[in-house]
Amino acid sequence: MSTISILPEILVNKIAAGEVIERPASVVRELLDNAIDAGAQTISVEVLYGGKKLIKVIDDGAGMDRKDASLCFERHATSKIKSEDDLFNIHTLGFRGEALASVTSVSKVVLITSTARSPVGTKVEITTGHKKEITDAPPLTGTTLEIRDIFYNTPARRKFLKSTQTETSHIIDIVTQKALSYPEITFFLKHNNSEIIGVSSAKDIKERFIQLYSEEMFNEFIEISRQGRGIKLYGFSSVREFARSTKNYQLIFMNRRPVKNPTIAHAVYSAYRDVIPKDKHPAYFLFFDIDPGKVDVNVHPAKREVRFEAPDEIHRIVEFSLRDALHVHKGKTPDYRQSTVSAVYETVQPAGEKKFGTYVIRDTLESALESGIEPLPASGDIQTDFFSEKLVPVAKRYFYIGESFFAEAAHNGLIIIDQHAAHERILYEKLLKKTNIEVEQLFLPIRVELPAREFNIIMNHRELFHDVGLSIDDFGANNVIVRTVPRELQKADMRGLIMDMASGILEQEHLGIKGDSGKQSLLHNIAARLACHTSVRGKEQLNNEELSQLVSDLEKTEMPDTCPHGRPTRVFFSLDDLRKMFKRK
Ligand code: ADP
Ligand code: MG
Repeated sequence: MSTISILPEILVNKIAAGEVIERPASVVRELLDNAIDAGAQTISVEVLYGGKKLIKVIDDGAGMDRKDASLCFERHATSKIKSEDDLFNIHTLGFRGEALASVTSVSKVVLITSTARSPVGTKVEITTGHKKEITDAPPLTGTTLEIRDIFYNTPARRKFLKSTQTETSHIIDIVTQKALSYPEITFFLKHNNSEIIGVSSAKDIKERFIQLYSEEMFNEFIEISRQGRGIKLYGFSSVREFARSTKNYQLIFMNRRPVKNPTIAHAVYSAYRDVIPKDKHPAYFLFFDIDPGKVDVNVHPAKREVRFEAPDEIHRIVEFSLRDALHVHKGKTPDYRQSTVSAVYETVQPAGEKKFGTYVIRDTLESALESGIEPLPASGDIQTDFFSEKLVPVAKRYFYIGESFFAEAAHNGLIIIDQHAAHERILYEKLLKKTNIEVEQLFLPIRVELPAREFNIIMNHRELFHDVGLSIDDFGANNVIVRTVPRELQKADMRGLIMDMASGILEQEHLGIKGDSGKQSLLHNIAARLACHTSVRGKEQLNNEELSQLVSDLEKTEMPDTCPHGRPTRVFFSLDDLRKMFKRK
Protein backbone atom coordinates (compact mmCIF):
# COMPACT_ATOMS: atom_id res chain seq x y z
CA MET A 1 0.00 0.00 0.00
CA SER A 2 1.32 3.42 -0.82
CA THR A 3 1.97 5.66 2.17
CA ILE A 4 3.19 8.86 0.53
CA SER A 5 0.76 11.71 -0.11
CA ILE A 6 1.27 15.29 -1.21
CA LEU A 7 0.49 17.70 1.65
CA PRO A 8 -2.41 20.13 1.20
CA GLU A 9 -1.37 23.69 0.37
CA ILE A 10 -2.60 25.13 3.69
CA LEU A 11 -0.39 22.73 5.60
CA VAL A 12 2.58 23.43 3.31
CA ASN A 13 2.19 27.12 4.04
CA LYS A 14 2.00 26.52 7.77
CA ILE A 15 5.22 24.54 7.65
CA ALA A 16 6.91 27.27 5.61
CA ALA A 17 5.55 29.85 8.06
CA GLY A 18 7.46 28.07 10.81
CA GLU A 19 10.70 29.04 9.10
CA VAL A 20 9.81 32.60 8.17
CA ILE A 21 7.50 33.71 10.97
CA GLU A 22 8.91 33.01 14.41
CA ARG A 23 7.19 35.81 16.29
CA PRO A 24 5.40 39.14 15.70
CA ALA A 25 8.70 40.85 14.96
CA SER A 26 9.22 38.52 11.98
CA VAL A 27 5.93 39.74 10.52
CA VAL A 28 7.07 43.32 11.01
CA ARG A 29 10.35 42.49 9.28
CA GLU A 30 8.61 40.96 6.24
CA LEU A 31 6.09 43.79 5.91
CA LEU A 32 8.81 46.43 6.22
CA ASP A 33 10.83 44.66 3.54
CA ASN A 34 7.84 44.72 1.22
CA ALA A 35 7.16 48.39 1.89
CA ILE A 36 10.81 49.25 1.23
CA ASP A 37 10.85 47.17 -1.97
CA ALA A 38 7.71 49.07 -3.05
CA GLY A 39 9.71 52.31 -2.81
CA ALA A 40 7.94 53.78 0.23
CA GLN A 41 9.21 57.09 1.61
CA THR A 42 7.28 56.90 4.86
CA ILE A 43 6.47 53.72 6.75
CA SER A 44 4.40 53.54 9.93
CA VAL A 45 4.19 50.50 12.13
CA GLU A 46 1.46 50.28 14.76
CA VAL A 47 1.27 47.35 17.12
CA LEU A 48 -0.92 46.32 20.02
CA TYR A 49 0.37 44.11 22.84
CA GLY A 50 3.78 43.39 21.39
CA GLY A 51 2.17 42.61 18.03
CA LYS A 52 0.35 39.63 19.50
CA LYS A 53 -3.01 41.35 18.98
CA LEU A 54 -2.34 43.57 15.97
CA ILE A 55 0.44 44.56 13.59
CA LYS A 56 -0.38 47.27 11.11
CA VAL A 57 2.08 48.55 8.54
CA ILE A 58 1.18 51.54 6.40
CA ASP A 59 3.36 52.59 3.47
CA ASP A 60 3.21 55.14 0.68
CA GLY A 61 4.96 52.93 -1.86
CA ALA A 62 3.84 51.87 -5.33
CA GLY A 63 0.86 49.84 -4.12
CA MET A 64 -0.82 47.02 -6.06
CA ASP A 65 -3.57 46.83 -8.62
CA ARG A 66 -6.50 44.50 -8.02
CA LYS A 67 -4.97 41.53 -9.77
CA ASP A 68 -1.71 41.72 -7.81
CA ALA A 69 -3.57 42.37 -4.58
CA SER A 70 -5.38 39.13 -5.04
CA LEU A 71 -2.32 37.17 -6.19
CA CYS A 72 0.19 38.35 -3.60
CA PHE A 73 -1.01 35.89 -0.94
CA GLU A 74 -0.27 32.85 -3.05
CA ARG A 75 2.85 30.89 -2.30
CA HIS A 76 5.74 31.75 -4.65
CA ALA A 77 3.91 34.84 -5.85
CA THR A 78 6.50 37.54 -6.39
CA SER A 79 7.08 40.48 -8.67
CA LYS A 80 10.77 40.61 -7.81
CA ILE A 81 12.44 37.83 -9.76
CA LYS A 82 11.47 36.10 -12.95
CA SER A 83 14.34 33.79 -13.88
CA GLU A 84 17.20 31.83 -12.34
CA ASP A 85 19.67 34.49 -13.42
CA ASP A 86 17.84 37.03 -11.30
CA LEU A 87 18.38 34.81 -8.27
CA PHE A 88 22.10 35.56 -8.40
CA ASN A 89 21.65 39.27 -8.85
CA ILE A 90 19.15 40.33 -6.24
CA HIS A 91 18.49 44.02 -5.64
CA THR A 92 15.34 43.73 -3.52
CA LEU A 93 14.86 42.56 0.04
CA GLY A 94 12.21 40.00 -0.92
CA PHE A 95 12.33 37.51 -3.78
CA ARG A 96 11.01 34.21 -2.46
CA GLY A 97 7.33 35.12 -2.64
CA GLU A 98 6.73 33.37 0.67
CA ALA A 99 6.14 36.02 3.28
CA LEU A 100 2.53 36.97 2.68
CA ALA A 101 1.53 33.33 2.09
CA SER A 102 3.18 32.39 5.39
CA VAL A 103 1.70 35.29 7.34
CA THR A 104 -1.74 34.51 5.97
CA SER A 105 -1.53 30.88 7.02
CA VAL A 106 -1.02 31.78 10.70
CA SER A 107 -3.02 34.99 11.24
CA LYS A 108 -6.02 37.06 10.15
CA VAL A 109 -5.08 39.46 7.38
CA VAL A 110 -6.54 42.58 5.78
CA LEU A 111 -4.84 44.33 2.85
CA ILE A 112 -5.78 47.77 1.56
CA THR A 113 -3.86 48.99 -1.45
CA SER A 114 -3.91 51.17 -4.51
CA THR A 115 -1.49 52.21 -7.24
CA ALA A 116 -1.27 55.79 -8.48
CA ARG A 117 -3.01 54.75 -11.67
CA SER A 118 -5.93 52.79 -10.19
CA PRO A 119 -9.25 54.69 -10.22
CA VAL A 120 -10.24 52.76 -7.13
CA GLY A 121 -8.32 50.94 -4.43
CA THR A 122 -8.66 47.32 -3.34
CA LYS A 123 -9.37 45.74 0.00
CA VAL A 124 -8.65 42.06 0.45
CA GLU A 125 -9.71 40.28 3.59
CA ILE A 126 -8.56 36.76 4.19
CA THR A 127 -11.14 35.01 6.28
CA THR A 128 -10.32 32.38 8.85
CA GLY A 129 -11.41 29.81 6.28
CA HIS A 130 -8.61 31.11 4.01
CA LYS A 131 -11.11 32.55 1.53
CA LYS A 132 -10.48 35.96 -0.03
CA GLU A 133 -13.09 38.68 0.16
CA ILE A 134 -12.33 41.48 -2.27
CA THR A 135 -14.01 44.90 -2.08
CA ASP A 136 -13.35 48.48 -3.18
CA ALA A 137 -11.27 50.88 -1.10
CA PRO A 138 -10.28 54.55 -1.40
CA PRO A 139 -7.63 55.14 -4.13
CA LEU A 140 -4.80 56.19 -1.81
CA THR A 141 -1.45 55.23 -3.30
CA GLY A 142 0.34 52.79 -1.08
CA THR A 143 -0.37 49.72 0.99
CA THR A 144 -1.70 48.97 4.46
CA LEU A 145 -1.53 45.49 5.92
CA GLU A 146 -3.24 44.53 9.16
CA ILE A 147 -2.25 41.29 10.79
CA ARG A 148 -4.34 40.18 13.74
CA ASP A 149 -4.10 37.36 16.27
CA ILE A 150 -0.85 35.82 15.12
CA PHE A 151 -0.75 32.02 15.55
CA TYR A 152 -4.48 31.96 16.45
CA ASN A 153 -4.71 28.65 14.57
CA THR A 154 -1.42 27.17 15.75
CA PRO A 155 -1.75 27.05 19.56
CA ALA A 156 1.52 25.16 19.89
CA ARG A 157 3.34 28.19 18.50
CA ARG A 158 1.21 30.75 20.26
CA LYS A 159 2.40 29.23 23.51
CA PHE A 160 5.96 30.22 22.69
CA LEU A 161 5.16 33.91 22.44
CA LYS A 162 6.90 35.85 25.21
CA SER A 163 5.66 38.75 27.31
CA THR A 164 4.34 41.87 25.60
CA GLN A 165 7.49 43.65 26.63
CA THR A 166 9.83 41.06 25.16
CA GLU A 167 7.91 40.90 21.89
CA THR A 168 7.92 44.71 21.78
CA SER A 169 11.70 44.72 22.26
CA HIS A 170 12.07 42.44 19.26
CA ILE A 171 9.86 44.70 17.17
CA ILE A 172 11.83 47.77 18.22
CA ASP A 173 15.00 45.95 17.16
CA ILE A 174 13.60 45.21 13.72
CA VAL A 175 12.32 48.73 13.10
CA THR A 176 15.60 50.19 14.37
CA GLN A 177 17.62 47.95 12.05
CA LYS A 178 15.53 48.87 9.03
CA ALA A 179 15.66 52.54 9.95
CA LEU A 180 19.46 52.34 10.18
CA SER A 181 19.92 50.78 6.78
CA TYR A 182 17.37 53.02 5.04
CA PRO A 183 18.13 56.48 6.42
CA GLU A 184 16.29 58.18 3.57
CA ILE A 185 12.96 56.66 4.67
CA THR A 186 10.83 58.16 7.44
CA PHE A 187 9.84 55.56 10.05
CA PHE A 188 7.32 55.54 12.86
CA LEU A 189 6.63 52.87 15.44
CA LYS A 190 3.70 53.06 17.82
CA HIS A 191 3.02 50.60 20.58
CA ASN A 192 -0.42 50.63 22.22
CA ASN A 193 -0.90 54.10 20.74
CA SER A 194 2.24 55.69 22.09
CA GLU A 195 5.09 56.59 19.80
CA ILE A 196 8.29 54.64 20.40
CA ILE A 197 10.27 55.55 17.29
CA GLY A 198 9.80 58.57 15.05
CA VAL A 199 12.63 59.44 12.65
CA SER A 200 12.28 61.69 9.64
CA SER A 201 14.22 61.21 6.42
CA ALA A 202 17.96 61.61 7.14
CA LYS A 203 20.80 62.45 4.77
CA ASP A 204 22.99 59.51 5.71
CA ILE A 205 23.53 56.63 8.11
CA LYS A 206 25.41 58.80 10.57
CA GLU A 207 22.53 61.26 10.89
CA ARG A 208 20.10 58.34 11.26
CA PHE A 209 22.31 56.76 13.91
CA ILE A 210 22.18 59.96 15.94
CA GLN A 211 18.39 60.23 15.50
CA LEU A 212 17.97 56.70 16.80
CA TYR A 213 20.67 56.51 19.43
CA SER A 214 21.60 60.09 20.38
CA GLU A 215 24.76 62.11 19.95
CA GLU A 216 26.17 60.78 23.24
CA MET A 217 26.09 57.23 21.96
CA PHE A 218 27.62 58.29 18.65
CA ASN A 219 30.60 59.63 20.58
CA GLU A 220 31.31 56.14 21.87
CA PHE A 221 32.18 54.99 18.35
CA ILE A 222 34.81 55.52 15.67
CA GLU A 223 33.60 56.00 12.14
CA ILE A 224 34.93 53.58 9.52
CA SER A 225 34.78 54.16 5.81
CA ARG A 226 36.60 52.11 3.19
CA GLN A 227 36.14 51.18 -0.40
CA GLY A 228 37.78 48.81 -2.86
CA ARG A 229 37.39 45.85 -5.19
CA GLY A 230 33.62 45.66 -5.38
CA ILE A 231 33.21 46.17 -1.62
CA LYS A 232 32.25 49.28 0.28
CA LEU A 233 32.37 49.29 4.05
CA TYR A 234 30.96 52.03 6.24
CA GLY A 235 30.16 51.87 9.90
CA PHE A 236 30.86 52.51 13.55
CA SER A 237 32.92 50.52 15.96
CA SER A 238 33.26 51.14 19.67
CA VAL A 239 36.31 52.98 20.91
CA ARG A 240 38.26 50.84 23.30
CA GLU A 241 36.99 52.42 26.50
CA PHE A 242 33.42 51.68 25.48
CA ALA A 243 33.91 47.96 25.13
CA ARG A 244 30.93 46.22 26.69
CA SER A 245 30.26 43.24 28.86
CA THR A 246 27.66 41.78 26.47
CA LYS A 247 27.40 41.20 22.75
CA ASN A 248 24.67 43.77 22.48
CA TYR A 249 24.94 46.12 19.50
CA GLN A 250 26.85 43.96 17.08
CA LEU A 251 25.12 44.52 13.79
CA ILE A 252 26.15 43.66 10.27
CA PHE A 253 24.25 44.81 7.20
CA MET A 254 24.94 43.30 3.82
CA ASN A 255 23.48 45.30 0.98
CA ARG A 256 21.18 46.89 3.57
CA ARG A 257 20.03 43.54 4.91
CA PRO A 258 20.81 42.68 8.58
CA VAL A 259 22.74 39.41 8.67
CA LYS A 260 24.76 37.26 11.00
CA ASN A 261 28.12 36.26 9.69
CA PRO A 262 30.83 34.42 11.62
CA THR A 263 33.60 35.49 9.22
CA ILE A 264 32.95 39.17 9.80
CA ALA A 265 32.42 38.76 13.54
CA HIS A 266 35.72 36.90 13.77
CA ALA A 267 37.50 39.62 11.82
CA VAL A 268 36.17 42.28 14.22
CA TYR A 269 37.32 40.37 17.29
CA SER A 270 40.72 39.86 15.66
CA ALA A 271 41.04 43.62 15.22
CA TYR A 272 40.22 44.19 18.90
CA ARG A 273 42.29 41.26 20.13
CA ASP A 274 44.97 43.18 21.98
CA VAL A 275 43.00 46.37 22.38
CA ILE A 276 40.27 45.37 24.82
CA PRO A 277 40.33 42.89 27.70
CA LYS A 278 39.41 39.29 26.91
CA ASP A 279 36.08 39.36 28.73
CA LYS A 280 34.86 42.49 26.94
CA HIS A 281 33.07 42.85 23.63
CA PRO A 282 33.25 45.51 20.98
CA ALA A 283 30.02 47.10 19.77
CA TYR A 284 29.81 47.60 16.03
CA PHE A 285 27.49 48.60 13.23
CA LEU A 286 28.97 47.61 9.88
CA PHE A 287 27.28 48.35 6.57
CA PHE A 288 28.60 46.55 3.51
CA ASP A 289 27.76 47.27 -0.08
CA ILE A 290 28.88 44.33 -2.13
CA ASP A 291 28.35 43.46 -5.75
CA PRO A 292 25.30 41.13 -5.47
CA GLY A 293 27.13 38.55 -7.60
CA LYS A 294 29.79 38.14 -4.88
CA VAL A 295 27.44 37.20 -2.09
CA ASP A 296 24.70 34.58 -1.86
CA VAL A 297 21.73 35.73 0.23
CA ASN A 298 19.59 32.68 -0.46
CA VAL A 299 21.04 30.54 2.33
CA HIS A 300 18.45 31.08 5.04
CA PRO A 301 14.62 31.24 4.77
CA ALA A 302 14.54 34.50 6.71
CA LYS A 303 17.68 35.64 4.81
CA ARG A 304 19.60 36.13 8.01
CA GLU A 305 22.76 34.52 6.69
CA VAL A 306 24.93 35.12 3.66
CA ARG A 307 27.73 33.27 1.93
CA PHE A 308 30.68 35.00 0.31
CA GLU A 309 32.45 34.12 -2.86
CA ALA A 310 35.75 35.12 -1.18
CA PRO A 311 35.45 35.01 2.64
CA ASP A 312 39.21 35.58 3.16
CA GLU A 313 39.03 38.85 1.36
CA ILE A 314 36.13 40.06 3.51
CA HIS A 315 37.99 38.98 6.63
CA ARG A 316 41.09 40.90 5.60
CA ILE A 317 39.19 44.05 4.72
CA VAL A 318 37.25 44.10 7.98
CA GLU A 319 40.18 43.36 10.23
CA PHE A 320 42.42 45.83 8.46
CA SER A 321 39.86 48.65 8.38
CA LEU A 322 39.07 48.30 12.05
CA ARG A 323 42.69 48.00 13.13
CA ASP A 324 43.49 51.05 11.14
CA ALA A 325 40.63 53.03 12.65
CA LEU A 326 41.50 51.92 16.17
CA HIS A 327 45.13 52.82 15.59
CA VAL A 328 44.30 56.32 14.39
CA HIS A 329 42.04 56.75 17.36
CA LYS A 330 44.82 55.76 19.78
CA GLY A 331 46.11 58.41 22.08
CA LYS A 332 42.77 59.26 23.58
CA THR A 333 43.44 56.70 26.29
CA PRO A 334 46.47 54.69 27.26
CA ASP A 335 46.68 51.14 26.03
CA TYR A 336 45.13 48.92 28.68
CA ARG A 337 48.01 46.47 28.32
CA GLN A 338 50.35 48.92 30.01
CA SER A 339 48.57 48.53 33.28
CA THR A 340 49.58 44.92 33.73
CA VAL A 341 51.06 43.61 36.93
CA SER A 342 54.67 44.40 36.13
CA ALA A 343 53.88 48.08 35.57
CA VAL A 344 52.24 48.24 38.95
CA TYR A 345 55.61 47.97 40.69
CA GLU A 346 56.76 51.29 39.35
CA THR A 347 54.24 53.44 41.10
CA VAL A 348 54.95 52.69 44.74
CA GLN A 349 54.51 55.80 46.87
CA PRO A 350 57.59 57.89 47.63
CA ALA A 351 59.56 56.46 50.51
CA GLY A 352 59.32 59.54 52.67
CA GLU A 353 55.61 59.09 53.15
CA LYS A 354 55.87 55.70 54.70
CA LYS A 355 56.22 54.57 58.27
CA PHE A 356 55.96 51.31 60.15
CA GLY A 357 56.51 48.04 58.43
CA THR A 358 55.73 49.37 55.01
CA TYR A 359 59.41 50.04 54.27
CA VAL A 360 60.02 46.39 54.29
CA ILE A 361 57.30 45.79 51.81
CA ARG A 362 58.42 48.55 49.52
CA ASP A 363 61.93 47.22 49.53
CA THR A 364 60.67 43.77 48.84
CA LEU A 365 58.71 44.95 45.84
CA GLU A 366 61.55 46.99 44.49
CA SER A 367 64.09 44.26 44.85
CA ALA A 368 61.70 41.91 43.13
CA LEU A 369 61.50 44.38 40.30
CA GLU A 370 65.22 45.00 40.05
CA SER A 371 66.32 41.43 40.21
CA GLY A 372 63.79 40.49 37.56
CA ILE A 373 62.46 37.66 39.62
CA GLU A 374 59.20 36.23 38.40
CA PRO A 375 56.36 38.77 38.59
CA LEU A 376 53.42 38.41 40.91
CA PRO A 377 51.45 35.34 39.97
CA ALA A 378 48.23 36.09 38.09
CA SER A 379 45.42 36.72 40.53
CA GLY A 380 43.65 33.51 39.52
CA ASP A 381 46.51 31.37 40.81
CA ILE A 382 46.50 32.76 44.28
CA GLN A 383 44.95 30.90 47.14
CA THR A 384 42.48 33.20 48.79
CA ASP A 385 41.39 30.84 51.52
CA PHE A 386 44.20 32.14 53.73
CA PHE A 387 41.75 34.79 54.75
CA SER A 388 39.59 32.31 56.53
CA GLU A 389 42.06 32.36 59.41
CA LYS A 390 41.41 36.10 59.97
CA LEU A 391 44.64 37.95 59.56
CA VAL A 392 45.60 40.59 62.01
CA PRO A 393 47.44 43.43 60.29
CA VAL A 394 50.46 44.68 62.22
CA ALA A 395 49.75 48.32 61.53
CA LYS A 396 46.58 49.87 60.14
CA ARG A 397 48.43 51.67 57.46
CA TYR A 398 47.62 51.23 53.81
CA PHE A 399 49.44 52.32 50.73
CA TYR A 400 48.64 52.41 47.07
CA ILE A 401 50.29 50.32 44.41
CA GLY A 402 49.36 51.87 41.10
CA GLU A 403 46.01 53.59 40.92
CA SER A 404 43.58 51.12 42.36
CA PHE A 405 45.38 48.48 44.37
CA PHE A 406 46.38 49.05 47.92
CA ALA A 407 48.40 46.96 50.25
CA GLU A 408 48.13 46.15 53.87
CA ALA A 409 50.86 44.51 55.90
CA ALA A 410 49.70 41.55 57.93
CA HIS A 411 51.72 39.83 60.62
CA ASN A 412 52.37 36.83 58.44
CA GLY A 413 52.33 38.28 54.98
CA LEU A 414 51.10 40.94 52.62
CA ILE A 415 47.51 41.60 51.52
CA ILE A 416 46.83 43.42 48.28
CA ILE A 417 43.31 44.68 47.77
CA ASP A 418 41.64 45.76 44.56
CA GLN A 419 39.80 48.83 45.74
CA HIS A 420 37.27 48.75 42.94
CA ALA A 421 36.47 45.05 43.35
CA ALA A 422 36.09 45.58 47.09
CA HIS A 423 33.63 48.41 46.57
CA GLU A 424 31.73 46.28 44.12
CA ARG A 425 31.35 43.44 46.58
CA ILE A 426 30.16 45.76 49.36
CA LEU A 427 27.63 47.61 47.22
CA TYR A 428 26.43 44.42 45.56
CA GLU A 429 25.46 42.88 48.89
CA LYS A 430 23.75 46.08 50.03
CA LEU A 431 21.69 46.22 46.85
CA LEU A 432 20.76 42.55 47.02
CA LYS A 433 19.55 42.85 50.58
CA LYS A 434 18.04 46.27 49.87
CA THR A 435 19.31 47.39 53.25
CA ASN A 436 21.73 50.13 54.32
CA ILE A 437 21.40 51.80 50.94
CA GLU A 438 22.09 55.48 51.41
CA VAL A 439 20.03 57.25 48.81
CA GLU A 440 21.39 60.51 47.45
CA GLN A 441 19.06 63.13 45.98
CA LEU A 442 20.83 64.54 42.95
CA PHE A 443 21.22 68.30 43.16
CA LEU A 444 20.64 68.49 39.42
CA PRO A 445 18.59 65.56 38.13
CA ILE A 446 20.30 63.92 35.16
CA ARG A 447 18.53 63.55 31.84
CA VAL A 448 19.60 60.68 29.61
CA GLU A 449 18.42 60.06 26.08
CA LEU A 450 18.07 56.36 25.32
CA PRO A 451 17.55 54.23 22.25
CA ALA A 452 13.89 53.14 21.96
CA ARG A 453 14.53 49.56 23.02
CA GLU A 454 16.43 50.50 26.18
CA PHE A 455 13.88 53.17 27.07
CA ASN A 456 11.07 50.65 26.83
CA ILE A 457 12.90 48.13 29.01
CA ILE A 458 13.95 50.62 31.67
CA MET A 459 10.48 52.11 32.00
CA ASN A 460 9.03 48.64 32.43
CA HIS A 461 11.35 47.94 35.33
CA ARG A 462 11.13 51.28 37.07
CA GLU A 463 10.05 49.62 40.28
CA LEU A 464 13.02 47.32 40.45
CA PHE A 465 15.33 50.33 40.28
CA HIS A 466 13.27 52.26 42.75
CA ASP A 467 13.72 49.45 45.26
CA VAL A 468 17.48 49.89 45.15
CA GLY A 469 17.44 53.64 45.46
CA LEU A 470 17.51 54.65 41.79
CA SER A 471 14.54 56.74 40.80
CA ILE A 472 14.20 56.90 37.05
CA ASP A 473 11.24 58.64 35.39
CA ASP A 474 9.88 59.10 31.91
CA PHE A 475 10.93 62.49 30.55
CA GLY A 476 9.30 62.11 27.14
CA ALA A 477 10.71 61.28 23.71
CA ASN A 478 12.80 58.35 24.96
CA ASN A 479 14.44 60.49 27.64
CA VAL A 480 14.63 59.44 31.23
CA ILE A 481 15.39 61.56 34.23
CA VAL A 482 17.35 60.24 37.18
CA ARG A 483 16.56 61.94 40.48
CA THR A 484 18.06 59.77 43.19
CA VAL A 485 20.89 57.26 43.25
CA PRO A 486 22.60 55.12 45.88
CA ARG A 487 25.40 57.25 47.34
CA GLU A 488 28.12 55.07 45.86
CA LEU A 489 26.77 55.72 42.38
CA GLN A 490 26.47 59.47 42.49
CA LYS A 491 29.50 60.05 40.31
CA ALA A 492 28.79 57.20 37.93
CA ASP A 493 28.26 57.76 34.23
CA MET A 494 24.45 57.58 34.24
CA ARG A 495 24.13 56.81 30.58
CA GLY A 496 26.55 53.90 30.73
CA LEU A 497 24.89 52.66 33.88
CA ILE A 498 21.37 52.72 32.46
CA MET A 499 22.41 51.13 29.18
CA ASP A 500 24.13 48.42 31.13
CA MET A 501 21.01 47.76 33.24
CA ALA A 502 18.95 47.48 30.09
CA SER A 503 21.27 44.95 28.54
CA GLY A 504 21.18 42.96 31.79
CA ILE A 505 17.39 42.81 31.67
CA LEU A 506 17.45 41.93 28.00
CA GLU A 507 19.93 39.14 28.57
CA GLN A 508 17.69 37.80 31.30
CA GLU A 509 14.63 37.93 29.06
CA HIS A 510 16.37 35.99 26.37
CA LEU A 511 17.06 33.27 28.89
CA GLY A 512 13.33 33.21 29.57
CA ILE A 513 13.50 32.38 33.30
CA LYS A 514 10.12 33.16 34.79
CA GLY A 515 8.47 33.47 38.21
CA ASP A 516 10.31 33.92 41.49
CA SER A 517 13.58 32.45 40.34
CA GLY A 518 13.42 34.81 37.36
CA LYS A 519 12.91 37.81 39.67
CA GLN A 520 15.68 36.66 41.94
CA SER A 521 18.17 36.16 39.17
CA LEU A 522 17.20 39.51 37.66
CA LEU A 523 17.92 41.23 40.97
CA HIS A 524 21.32 39.52 41.15
CA ASN A 525 22.12 40.50 37.61
CA ILE A 526 21.08 44.12 38.17
CA ALA A 527 22.85 44.41 41.53
CA ALA A 528 26.08 43.04 40.06
CA ARG A 529 25.92 45.47 37.15
CA LEU A 530 25.04 48.46 39.32
CA ALA A 531 27.84 47.60 41.71
CA CYS A 532 30.20 47.71 38.78
CA HIS A 533 29.49 51.42 38.35
CA THR A 534 30.43 52.33 41.89
CA SER A 535 31.87 55.82 42.04
CA VAL A 536 35.26 54.86 43.34
CA ARG A 537 36.55 53.79 39.97
CA GLY A 538 40.24 53.08 39.58
CA LYS A 539 41.67 56.58 39.77
CA GLU A 540 40.08 58.07 42.85
CA GLN A 541 42.35 57.51 45.81
CA LEU A 542 41.10 57.26 49.35
CA ASN A 543 42.80 58.39 52.55
CA ASN A 544 43.97 56.01 55.21
CA GLU A 545 40.79 56.29 57.25
CA GLU A 546 38.58 55.62 54.25
CA LEU A 547 40.68 52.64 53.29
CA SER A 548 40.40 51.29 56.79
CA GLN A 549 36.60 51.65 56.59
CA LEU A 550 36.60 49.89 53.24
CA VAL A 551 38.58 46.98 54.63
CA SER A 552 36.24 46.61 57.57
CA ASP A 553 33.12 46.87 55.35
CA LEU A 554 34.58 44.23 53.07
CA GLU A 555 35.27 42.03 56.06
CA LYS A 556 31.57 42.19 56.97
CA THR A 557 30.31 40.95 53.60
CA GLU A 558 29.31 37.36 53.05
CA MET A 559 31.90 36.69 50.38
CA PRO A 560 34.74 39.14 50.97
CA ASP A 561 37.19 37.34 48.67
CA THR A 562 35.51 37.85 45.32
CA CYS A 563 33.66 40.60 43.49
CA PRO A 564 30.18 39.83 42.09
CA HIS A 565 31.79 38.78 38.81
CA GLY A 566 34.00 36.26 40.53
CA ARG A 567 37.27 38.18 40.33
CA PRO A 568 39.35 38.31 43.51
CA THR A 569 38.93 41.34 45.74
CA ARG A 570 42.18 40.65 47.57
CA VAL A 571 45.20 38.46 47.31
CA PHE A 572 47.55 37.33 50.01
CA PHE A 573 51.27 36.65 49.92
CA SER A 574 52.34 34.69 52.92
CA LEU A 575 55.84 34.93 54.32
CA ASP A 576 56.36 31.53 52.77
CA ASP A 577 55.44 32.88 49.34
CA LEU A 578 57.85 35.74 49.78
CA ARG A 579 60.63 33.41 50.87
CA LYS A 580 60.06 31.33 47.76
CA MET A 581 60.16 34.39 45.53
CA PHE A 582 63.48 35.41 47.05
CA LYS A 583 64.81 31.90 46.64
CA ARG A 584 65.31 31.54 50.34
CA LYS A 585 63.61 28.21 50.33
P1 ADP B 1 8.39 38.72 -1.93
O1 ADP B 1 8.57 39.97 -1.16
O2 ADP B 1 9.45 37.73 -1.65
O3 ADP B 1 8.19 38.95 -3.38
P2 ADP B 1 5.92 38.54 -0.46
O4 ADP B 1 5.05 37.38 -0.14
O5 ADP B 1 6.49 39.29 0.66
O6 ADP B 1 7.06 38.00 -1.41
O7 ADP B 1 5.11 39.54 -1.36
C1 ADP B 1 4.55 39.09 -2.58
C2 ADP B 1 4.39 40.21 -3.55
O8 ADP B 1 3.37 41.10 -3.12
C3 ADP B 1 5.62 41.08 -3.73
O9 ADP B 1 6.52 40.53 -4.69
C4 ADP B 1 5.01 42.41 -4.20
O10 ADP B 1 4.79 42.37 -5.59
C5 ADP B 1 3.65 42.41 -3.52
N1 ADP B 1 3.65 43.27 -2.31
C6 ADP B 1 3.71 42.84 -1.03
N2 ADP B 1 3.70 43.87 -0.17
C7 ADP B 1 3.65 44.99 -0.90
C8 ADP B 1 3.61 46.40 -0.59
N3 ADP B 1 3.67 46.85 0.67
N4 ADP B 1 3.54 47.27 -1.62
C9 ADP B 1 3.50 46.83 -2.90
N5 ADP B 1 3.53 45.53 -3.24
C10 ADP B 1 3.60 44.61 -2.28
MG1 MG C 1 8.47 40.12 0.87
